[in-house]
Amino acid sequence: MQTTILHIDFNSYFASVEQQKNPFLRGKPVGVIKAEGRTVIIAASYEAKRRGVKTGTSVSEVKQLCPEILLVPADFDSYDYITHKFYEICNRYSDLVELFSLDEVFLDVSRTALLFGDAGKIAFLLKKDIREELGEWLPVSIGIAKNKLLAKLASDLEKPNGLVEITGENLDDCLGRAEFEQICGIGRRLEQRLRDMGITQLLQIRSVPERLLAAGFGPYWSKQLRNMSWGEDSSPIVPSYELPLPKTVSRTHTLFKDVFETVKILAVIRNLVEEAAEKLRLAKMSGRQFGLMVRSGENSEVRFITRKYFSNDSLNIFQELKRLFLSLKWRGGVRFLGVWIGLLAEENSLSQSLLPEVNRRIAVLSVQDKINLRFGHYTLFPASLLQASIIHPEVNGYLGDERIKQRINEISAIF
Ligand SMILES: [Mg+2]
Repeated sequence: MQTTILHIDFNSYFASVEQQKNPFLRGKPVGVIKAEGRTVIIAASYEAKRRGVKTGTSVSEVKQLCPEILLVPADFDSYDYITHKFYEICNRYSDLVELFSLDEVFLDVSRTALLFGDAGKIAFLLKKDIREELGEWLPVSIGIAKNKLLAKLASDLEKPNGLVEITGENLDDCLGRAEFEQICGIGRRLEQRLRDMGITQLLQIRSVPERLLAAGFGPYWSKQLRNMSWGEDSSPIVPSYELPLPKTVSRTHTLFKDVFETVKILAVIRNLVEEAAEKLRLAKMSGRQFGLMVRSGENSEVRFITRKYFSNDSLNIFQELKRLFLSLKWRGGVRFLGVWIGLLAEENSLSQSLLPEVNRRIAVLSVQDKINLRFGHYTLFPASLLQASIIHPEVNGYLGDERIKQRINEISAIF
């Protein structure tokens, strides 16, 4: 059976969601910035992109490029919400859906295309559902092809609101038009090495002698590159329910200036632990390795401790990390902090504590989680964060995180 893959990609995702939410922003150059720091653009609307604004452009530079730009703080809860709705819509048209990043999915429609007509009809229906259920201001580009590599390239060839199918007839034409950066798997370093060899275009790779390609890129990459140049790719769709549960959860944060006071540094650590531990509790998981990363300029330290007992109690984990931090005898400021909880296990595989004080903490935390789930993150939070400006959860593109969120959704659907 011929395989047919769809790749669906939102255009200028964060900025489009902002325009969808707020009609005042529509048709105008919009830059999305992080709620804290506010120094660089993390997403730009098409109107802003046309003026040269890109992801990563600094706010000061943006003001020169496009003085009338409207800067909006990122609202990750909305992006997350739309992603879940989007994922639900995609599941109507296939049981093989891979959430590739927050704003992209792959859909294997080989078996379902006939139910709806064909792959083009599914693309049409998807666009219609997204428009009607998520909004007019959330354009998607869809690529249709026989594999993931080509489907992703196809969706990138026409933006915004594109629909491109790569077939046997237009394959060489599409590959010939593609820039390296449009090919999934060719990163900046690989691209530079190709350019160093005088290869500036994917199709050229076909005629590079095997010996030369292997000498330049080794056995693995030379084969990959050769396959890519012919548009071949055999990587399967990985539905998120098949992803294994992650072995660690982590949360990192870059401060926008060096922080020197121990009290403030510890407050950030506590803040990050709150988020990571809450995620574990909601996913009914627990860990027994607790780690800390501290960085400033050239100085960086990574420390962790492995225990016999499992925990997802943020206070308890924080105590462990506080000891680790104090043992560093860190001098000078801190610019970056990261925490992780590792060696995770599912709660139902662990024996329950018999200690009344532990069970009391579990009960308190469970009430806190319910309240925060219902009324928003950090509605209830530890008093030690009263003086701090709270760092809220952000969406990230890690699939492990998606798997945890999926598990949380499954669990909360039961209760
Ligand atoms: Mg996108």
